[in-house]
Amino acid sequence: MRKTRAKSGQVALFMLLVFTAILLTVLVNFDVFTAVLRKEDVQNAGDAAALAAARWQATTLNLEGELNLIHALAVCTGETNAIPGINAMQARLAFAGPLAGLAAAQTAARQNHAFDDPGAIAMMREHSLSVRSMQTGGDGYDAYPEPWPGAWAEYADMIDAASGQGLAAVPGNTRYFDTAGGHTLLDRSFYMAVNGRDWCWFFFNAMPLLRGYRSFSDWDPLPERERGGLWNSEIFGLEIEPADVPLAAFMDAGSAAELLGAVPPRGSVRSEDVEESGLMFSFPQRWYVYGREAWGRWTAFDPFGENRFPAAGRVKPEYDVDGAAAVCRVRGEINPSSPGLDSKAVHWLAAAKPFGYLEDGETGGRAPATSAGGYILPAFRAVRLVPVDTARGADLATADASWVAHVRRHLKPYMAHGPSAAAPHAQAGCAWCEALVLWERAEFRDAGVEWLRRNSRMCRRTGGGPGGSGGTAHGH
Ligand SMILES: [Zn+2]
Repeated sequence: MRKTRAKSGQVALFMLLVFTAILLTVLVNFDVFTAVLRKEDVQNAGDAAALAAARWQATTLNLEGELNLIHALAVCTGETNAIPGINAMQARLAFAGPLAGLAAAQTAARQNHAFDDPGAIAMMREHSLSVRSMQTGGDGYDAYPEPWPGAWAEYADMIDAASGQGLAAVPGNTRYFDTAGGHTLLDRSFYMAVNGRDWCWFFFNAMPLLRGYRSFSDWDPLPERERGGLWNSEIFGLEIEPADVPLAAFMDAGSAAELLGAVPPRGSVRSEDVEESGLMFSFPQRWYVYGREAWGRWTAFDPFGENRFPAAGRVKPEYDVDGAAAVCRVRGEINPSSPGLDSKAVHWLAAAKPFGYLEDGETGGRAPATSAGGYILPAFRAVRLVPVDTARGADLATADASWVAHVRRHLKPYMAHGPSAAAPHAQAGCAWCEALVLWERAEFRDAGVEWLRRNSRMCRRTGGGPGGSGGTAHGH
């Protein structure tokens, strides 16, 4: 009896297996298909967002340049009472332009079906509050000098407006005032090394710390927040600044006349006009210039160098300029239809940069945008995607809400009270605080010293972008 039933049962089982196999194949293929599509979506969203933000950087830089020229023209035509207004506009643009880029990046990301990042919204909200507090000092800090009266309140409103509807594209190269600095506790790779028991990181970067650390009271005080010089939005910043110098610091009267001759609506300005106007040497003059520390050659872009960034061919000399770039991170979700598979978040990080050049009227050649002695002229003509590693300030830390929260809220109490202040945050899921708790244990550090005593030969320097402290996760 058992045998016959078993036989038909086997056939049924076999059919069931075949059917299940077919069904699974279809489902899995469907999932692979949707996953690929979704990934493409997220990449498109990130690329589009970075390009949109960089386009606003280019537009804003050009406007700053136009205003420099209009200022010069105003001097030539004796309309000097227009100058304070022109300067005020330049000061505001350096904050408003990049935030227009932030808003444009959101639109671009959403059109490509990127998801809002809830952590980023909270982070940006907190950031606008900290900008507001810069007016009064707050938080135990002195007030920050404002680039124009009422600047910080106005600017915080702009941040809220640009990010209040949610953030689908998180700015990835924001220069927050307090998350960077020359201190081990402001270096994410330290925490990663602790949590990952990456003793080689210590071998190369912090051997005396690993050997000599006794307790949290050993840490040097955290650096002061960056003082003064806040002339740019810290989100997609243009890295420009005012310079109170005569125009002769940048060019001669002939070049000035040639430039002004091209500015509408006045038409031609002769070099005699320029000389008679006192434009070249008169004081005080506030011109906007490329920040000396930030703008330089785009040396990071080196397809033939040690790091071999993925680049097609050499960079033309006129494009070999670094200074402003926009990095955006977007997030999407893959929801598999196969049973038992969880939905998975996918991220994409993209960078774009404004490119342009100045035309040399005499030779007809092209020169880098910064070649007028750093004086900003309308030079930017295009934006392009660039490898993330080559974008200035492409530090993923700034798009990482947990890191920003850690630096802003957890570090101060930790410095005052030690790991007991970090433990609750660690329990609540702050991996950075978890590292601090672990780090405080003498046997943890001893294990590292002991491991290195026997194995330090195995340590190899790896990766690390240009100027990075090594071990940072670059790329996509
Ligand atoms: Zn923390």
